[in-house]
Amino acid sequence: MGLRRQILVYVFALCAGCVLLGIWAIQRGLAKAYEDVELEEARDDFQHLVAILDGEIQHREFMLHEWRLWPDLRRHLTRPDPEFIQRNFSPAYLAQVGLDGLLLLDDQGRVALQVWAAVDGASWLASLPAGTRHWLGAPAADSPACGLAGSPDYLVLLCRRRLEEPGMNDGARGVLVMAERLDSHFLRRLERRVGLPVRFVPAAQALPLAGDPVQALGSAELPGAGPWSLRRLDERLLMHWPLPVAGESLQRVALEVQHGRRIVQRGEREARERRLTAGVLALVFSLTLAWLLDRTVISRVVRMRRELAAIREQRQWHAAVTLQGADEINELGAGINHLLSVIDRQVYELEKLSLTDALTGLPNRRCFSQRLSLALRQQHRNGASLCLILIDVDHFKRYNDHYGHAAGDRALQEVARCLQEVARRPSDLPARLGGEEFALLLQDTDAPGALHQAEEFRALLARAGIAHEAQPEGAATACVTASIGLAMFSTPDSPDTLYQRADAALYRAKAAGRDRIECA
Ligand code: GH3
Ligand code: MG
Ligand code: MG
Repeated sequence: MGLRRQILVYVFALCAGCVLLGIWAIQRGLAKAYEDVELEEARDDFQHLVAILDGEIQHREFMLHEWRLWPDLRRHLTRPDPEFIQRNFSPAYLAQVGLDGLLLLDDQGRVALQVWAAVDGASWLASLPAGTRHWLGAPAADSPACGLAGSPDYLVLLCRRRLEEPGMNDGARGVLVMAERLDSHFLRRLERRVGLPVRFVPAAQALPLAGDPVQALGSAELPGAGPWSLRRLDERLLMHWPLPVAGESLQRVALEVQHGRRIVQRGEREARERRLTAGVLALVFSLTLAWLLDRTVISRVVRMRRELAAIREQRQWHAAVTLQGADEINELGAGINHLLSVIDRQVYELEKLSLTDALTGLPNRRCFSQRLSLALRQQHRNGASLCLILIDVDHFKRYNDHYGHAAGDRALQEVARCLQEVARRPSDLPARLGGEEFALLLQDTDAPGALHQAEEFRALLARAGIAHEAQPEGAATACVTASIGLAMFSTPDSPDTLYQRADAALYRAKAAGRDRIECA
C-alpha cells in the first residue's frame, strides 16, 4: 500500500475511533444526566400526588372528628332515631359531601347504623375480610385513622374514630366510620390535580423488576405503604406505590402513575444532534488533517520518489530533485541531490577513464569507435565529407628492442603530441587505437585537406626527430617515421568498411617502403 493510502487510512481510522469514543461518552453522559433529571421530576410529581392524597385523607379525618363530637349522632347509638338520621344523613347529603357511606358500630363492633349514598355498601361490607372488619371495630389511639379496603376494582377508603373521649360521659360507646369509594371519579379528580394519568392496579404488577429503581416514600396517613418503584418503558415511566389494605398483612393494591418520557426523549434528540455534529466535525477535521499531511509530507515525498525514478531510468545524474520548504524533507532532498552530484562526478570520471588512453592521454579505441559511428550518422544526415587517417609507427619493435620499453613509451607520447597538434578543430579526433597505431578522424574535410593534414603530421614527426638508430639497413632516416593510410568516406561505407579501406591503404604504404602516405 502506498504512503498516501496508508496515511489516509490511519487518519480516517483514528478520527473514526475518536468520534465513536466521543459519541459513546456524550451518549453516556447525556443519558445519565437526563435520566437523573427525569427521576427527579418523577419524584416531585409523586410527592405532589402523595401530598394530595394526604390532604384528602386529612379532610376526612377532620370531618370524622367534627361528626363524632355531634351529640345527636352520639345519642343515636344509645337511642336510635331514624328520623334524625333521615333528616341529617340522607344518601344525597353524603354524596354532596363526597362520602359513599356512614357507619356507626356499637362497642361490640356490630353495625348500629349504615347509610350508603349510591353503592350497594351493605353487601360490600359483608364481603370484607375478617381482618378488615376487626380493624374497623377496634381503632387504637396510636393506629392510623384511615385505611383502604377492597380490591383494585372496588377500593374504598375507610376512616374510623371512637366516639368516646375522655371527659365525655354521655355513655355513647362505639365507632364512627366514613367510607369513600375510590372509583374512576376519584381517580379523574386526582389526575386533574396532579396532571398525570393515575389508576389502581393489583400489587403484584407493582413488584419492582430487576433494575427498577426503588424509592422510599412515606405518607403520614398511609404509613404501611411500601416504597414506590419506577419502571422505565420506552414511551413512559410507570411509578407504583403499594398501598396498605386496612387490617390485612398483604398489600393487594398499588397506585400506578404514568409519567411521560419527554425529558429523556429530549435528551435523545439532543444526543442525536450532537452525534451528527461530532460526525460532521470529525469528517471535516480528518479531511483537513489528510489535506495538510498530503500537502506538507505525502505529495512532496511522492514527487521526490517520482523525480528520482526518472533520474535513475534516464541516468541523468546531473539532474536534481525539486526542493521545497525548509524542513527535514527538504534536507532529505538536499542530501539526495548531493549524492546525485557525487554519482554524476564519478560517472563522468569513469566515462572519461574508459574513453581515454592512459599512456598518451588521447581518446582510446572505444572512444574512437563511438565517434566514428556518430560521425557516419551525421554524414548520412548532412552529407558532409569525412576522412579517416590510420597511422602506424614504422619498425617500432626494433625501437623497443633497442632503446627499451620505457623509451618506447616516451616515443609513443611524442607521436601522440604531434598528432594532437595536427587536430586543431574541435570536430577533429586524434586517437590511439592500440600499440603503436593511431588514427585521426576529420569531419567536414575534403581529400586535399585530409592529405594536407597527414603531410603536416609527417612533417611534425620528422621535425620531432626521435632518434631511431635501429632502423633496418638502407633506411632513409635514423629517426622515428610512420606509415599512413587515408580513406575518404563514400556511400555506402559503414564504419567497418571505411576502416578496412584505410587499413588497406596503410598496408600499401608499409609494403611500398614505409614513411609515406597512401590513399584508398
Ligand atoms: P612495422 O613497421 O611493420 O609496423 O613494424 P613494427 O615493429 O612497428 O610492428 P610490430 O607490430 O611488429 O611491432 C609493434 C611493436 O610495438 C611491438 C611492441 O614492442 C611495440 N609496442 C606496442 N605497444 C607498445 C607500448 O605501449 N609501449 C611500447 N614501448 N611499445 C609498444
Ligand atoms: Mg602495428
Ligand atoms: Mg608498426
